[in-house]
Amino acid sequence: MATETTLILFKPDAVQKNLVGAVLARYQAEGFTIRGIKMMSLSDELLAEHYSHIAEMPFFPSVRGFMQETPVIALALSGDNIISRVRDLLGPTDSTEAAPGTLRGDYGDKTGDSKMRNICHASDGPEAAEAELKRFFNEGELFDL
Ligand code: ADP
Repeated sequence: MATETTLILFKPDAVQKNLVGAVLARYQAEGFTIRGIKMMSLSDELLAEHYSHIAEMPFFPSVRGFMQETPVIALALSGDNIISRVRDLLGPTDSTEAAPGTLRGDYGDKTGDSKMRNICHASDGPEAAEAELKRFFNEGELFDL
């Protein structure tokens, strides 16, 4: 099995609902290792880059506003096959379609904002993980444990 590192963002809904500890505990219960963690405000520029694949969608301005409601917490987490395992643990984008036991199923918005207020971002593949780790962490902020 390949040890990988993925980039996770605790989104403003996780911060506002005081769910950061509960969600982090779920990642740690999987045996994943924290390589870096920090709180940061996301600029328009950074969000345009991070969400370039949805930048032309009509809902993008709402997503940008949501991601700027509070600072986010960026987490670099490593483990065997972690990229797909964290995506499975998160569940699908729409929290109302996410099964109980997944993070979005348990904690995501179940009302009108279920597609947007979905607790965490996580890299969706190795190339995205590499680019996103560089985007959110500077050299010297990631540790080898
Ligand atoms: P994921 O985060 O599950 O990989 P996407 O990359 O497709 O999903 O979308 C990025 C983020 O944009 C989602 O996590 C969600 O916060 C928001 N989003 C996606 N689709 C919608 C939508 N139809 N309406 C509102 N927000 C959306």
